[in-house]
Amino acid sequence: MWFFTPSISGVEARRFGKQLLREYKIEGVELYPKQDKLITGTGSLVRLPLGIHQVSKYRYGFIDFDGHPLAPTVREQMKILTSPKRVPQTFIDQILAVAPEAKPIFPTKPYIPRPKNRIVGDTLSERIKNRISVYDFISQYIEINERGFGYCPYHDDQKMSFGVNQEHNFWNCFACETGGSVIDFWMKWRALHGQDPDFRKTMIDLIGLLNM
Ligand SMILES: [Zn+2]
Repeated sequence: MWFFTPSISGVEARRFGKQLLREYKIEGVELYPKQDKLITGTGSLVRLPLGIHQVSKYRYGFIDFDGHPLAPTVREQMKILTSPKRVPQTFIDQILAVAPEAKPIFPTKPYIPRPKNRIVGDTLSERIKNRISVYDFISQYIEINERGFGYCPYHDDQKMSFGVNQEHNFWNCFACETGGSVIDFWMKWRALHGQDPDFRKTMIDLIGLLNM
């Protein structure tokens, strides 16, 4: 996408792309860069154009609105890309003005009350699980659609394998075959962003986040 925009940040590029997908109701599109922000040292995954896909072994070039290759050969595509027609900044500003803010990696607002308790018991982990719904908690960090699905943050997901079950208050990923409670989610989230996923540290973190 960066080929076709003036120089904008990765955060803006993602917000712009996501808003276009939302407005035109397009699903199943991978958007690069993959993350809004970086916590750890390694870079955000950016798909370079004209590369060969590791799984399909197919070379992905550029296509026009009808889905046809921009030019018949890679060499000719590259020639076109040396002076691309860029999206005007005014249009990007227009789209960004109505796009929701990027989701935070770590919380800005600590507490969301949960309508009713479901878990019987009084251990610390049960009290944490009762404090907040998995849906409310997770949708602070990941876009979950109205059917309860989103892209899994824990693998290179292209199929919205990540689901949140609102009724039974758990999450799971069909591809990773993982899932569980808000505590499980937060352990993995911490690990993903370079923080210690130790159970005790995760619990202490959640106690603070949930204002307990
Ligand atoms: Zn997954």
